[in-house]
Amino acid sequence: MIEVLSKILVEKTTQSRLPEVDFDNIVFGKVFSDHMFVADYKNGEWSNLKIQPYAPISLSPACAALHYGQAIFEGMKAYKNEKGEIFLFRPTDNAKRINVSARRMCMPEIPEEIFMSALKQLVKMDSEWIPSGEGSSLYIRPFMFASEQLLGVRPADEYKFIIFTAPVNSYYSTPVNVKVEMEYSRATEGGAGFAKVAGNYGAALYPAKMGQDQGYQQLVWTDSVSHEYIEESGTMNVMFQIGNKLITPNLDFKTTLAGITRDSVLTIAREMGVEVEERRVSVKEIIAAAKSGELKDVFGTGTAATIAQIVSITLKDERFELPPIEQRDLSNKISNKLLNIKKGREEDKYGWVLKL
Ligand SMILES: *Cc1c(COP(=O)(O)O)cnc(C)c1O
Repeated sequence: MIEVLSKILVEKTTQSRLPEVDFDNIVFGKVFSDHMFVADYKNGEWSNLKIQPYAPISLSPACAALHYGQAIFEGMKAYKNEKGEIFLFRPTDNAKRINVSARRMCMPEIPEEIFMSALKQLVKMDSEWIPSGEGSSLYIRPFMFASEQLLGVRPADEYKFIIFTAPVNSYYSTPVNVKVEMEYSRATEGGAGFAKVAGNYGAALYPAKMGQDQGYQQLVWTDSVSHEYIEESGTMNVMFQIGNKLITPNLDFKTTLAGITRDSVLTIAREMGVEVEERRVSVKEIIAAAKSGELKDVFGTGTAATIAQIVSITLKDERFELPPIEQRDLSNKISNKLLNIKKGREEDKYGWVLKL
């Protein structure tokens, strides 16, 4: 069964675009590798598994995803070290998480064998697209959407699962100033905030744009009921170092996405002997800690940037500047350690990296 499922047809490009790429000046997510993986779900099963040249796909105007939003995705990375070795970081966690999202959106699960074998083959085939510079990697975007022509509102019967990849340099180049969002929400209890759903992103654009117009690169999302409790920052999980404790919102309300970077950072912090607290985090306590000088660090965690340190936090009209990035021993140390593990330079005690 697994053998048959994982049979992937391969059509190689006749003309690689690799020679045209200026790897030193890549705009994030604008340059795509030569190949993509595509699979179709129809009649209750996945078929037409194929790696083919990266190219536009044709869709019906009645494609259900475009109307009713059955669209989910993942984000992950492949790394290449100085020796040219290639590593994926916790890929099976992405394979599991896309199915958490699929279940929430009434979409079919993609078997882990298909996800993993497609991913490995695709990354191997386009391995020359993986930049080896320190901040660089190959960003991988697996996603699934309802492809059926359908105007009735019901879960679609046909889907496409696609993986494509893009070489990327470091994600954030400017310091991140954040504003605590007191009006809009990213997620609600009972909603789909815990799933990686395209619509969550679409609905977050407007408040994020308003924040950007006011000079804040990211928002700190708060709960939709009272706006008193912090959930995430932008499209990342968020962590606070108060004194020697590392504090982050817990996942129990299903309004915070279970980031793989979040889990990795917490695991490393615990191993370093740092006291970690996953619990409700109130805006009040963060502001109090900022005022008293106990707030040592605030940072977002996610695949794109790994750790994005936040330089100021604003609540209503009050802005709090945070300690200089160079002084943030804990997040700098964790960030370096994670990168070393991802590049196969440091012992991987947890079985996180998969060498290709
Ligand atoms: C993807 C995502 C994250 C980060 O997850 P990672 O697995 O660490 O990349 C955090 N918050 C939201 C809303 C996300 O979509």
